[in-house]
Amino acid sequence: MEYMLRVLRNLVSINTNAVDKANYAECASYIDSEASEIGMKSRIISFKGSDGKIRPSVLAEASANAGETVLFVTHFDVVPEGQGWKTNPFSISRKGNRLYGRGVSDDKGGIAAFLAGVKEALHGKGGLSRNIKFLAVCDEEVGGDEGIGLIAKRKPRALASDFCIVLDGHLDYFSTACCGIVRGWITLKGKGGHAGYDFQTGNMLHNAIPFMQELLEYRHARHRKRSSIDAPKNGVSKKIFGRFNITILDAGTQFNVIPSELKIGFDLRTLPEENPGEIAHEFRRFASLKARKHSLKAGFDFRFVHGYYTKNKKYAGIVKSAAEEVMHRKMHPVSSFGATDARYVSTLGIPAFNFGPGGKNVHTNTESITLQELGKTKEFVKKIIANDPGGED
Ligand SMILES: [Zn+2]
Repeated sequence: MEYMLRVLRNLVSINTNAVDKANYAECASYIDSEASEIGMKSRIISFKGSDGKIRPSVLAEASANAGETVLFVTHFDVVPEGQGWKTNPFSISRKGNRLYGRGVSDDKGGIAAFLAGVKEALHGKGGLSRNIKFLAVCDEEVGGDEGIGLIAKRKPRALASDFCIVLDGHLDYFSTACCGIVRGWITLKGKGGHAGYDFQTGNMLHNAIPFMQELLEYRHARHRKRSSIDAPKNGVSKKIFGRFNITILDAGTQFNVIPSELKIGFDLRTLPEENPGEIAHEFRRFASLKARKHSLKAGFDFRFVHGYYTKNKKYAGIVKSAAEEVMHRKMHPVSSFGATDARYVSTLGIPAFNFGPGGKNVHTNTESITLQELGKTKEFVKKIIANDPGGED
């Protein structure tokens, strides 16, 4: 526990804000040195991002001379600390068994638990049961395209493995799938003008109200879509369901000016088994029809993120029994509601899963994790990689 806490403290003290790409190199080099110190062969892989800033990842390996290789994926970037912290977000504060700080759970807790698990497995009696690969990537919190996405595209061999576990999620369940996303802008255009002379122009914003009402119909239809895979506990459904939300409205500058444009930003979540490209097409047809009905000209600018769905039974069984052993209860696979880095690994045909390290209120000013959760994540790692994982401490 002491080693794990020390690593977590050091990681949290480096602010790795994903928006500014802050201190990425420093954090990668720290993880690289810890991985080497515990006996892994570690190196840093760097790419230049589209903004010219460096995107480093740590790739560490340990061989068991086994036929099978497991890849663990974590990320060291964090969301900006935001306002309203009662404690210093970049210095862990401890209340009983609970630790507070930005990234204690998401996902520096995953990195610390992994390194501690490997350290114990490498120095334990039985040795390793599988070859291990470990990736600590950046940019997960901003979509992953220039984090693990660049590795999958330019250095896919770095991810080569028999199965992959992303240590960046919950302990209540493990996931074998995640949802895809369609997001972007609908731009409505109409005639603008002087508000005192609205009889000359009409008001396109007023036409946009019934248009948006119709988008809510689409939202209801999306909500009724059900996946074949179970969802994490929620108040809506046992199965994963579709979602659609209007998330940005942008129009107007002055009280007395009727604008000529309204930009509607939206976020649509697809089922793991759906093709986001097809759903985007379907949504666009629906929206342009409704725009025409309300005398609005509509333009569209969409982006998609693919989900994934691992149906591999063998490796799902391995992850499930390790998770059940550390949690002391039955577990069944679900799909994550969000999009996880596992989807990039899955595009290479590698069965990918998501489990641990747990935690509470991630992305908020009370992000926390307990020592028990960290301990269970470490034990989980040992169950997967060690011949003699030993008991819990
Ligand atoms: Zn995360």
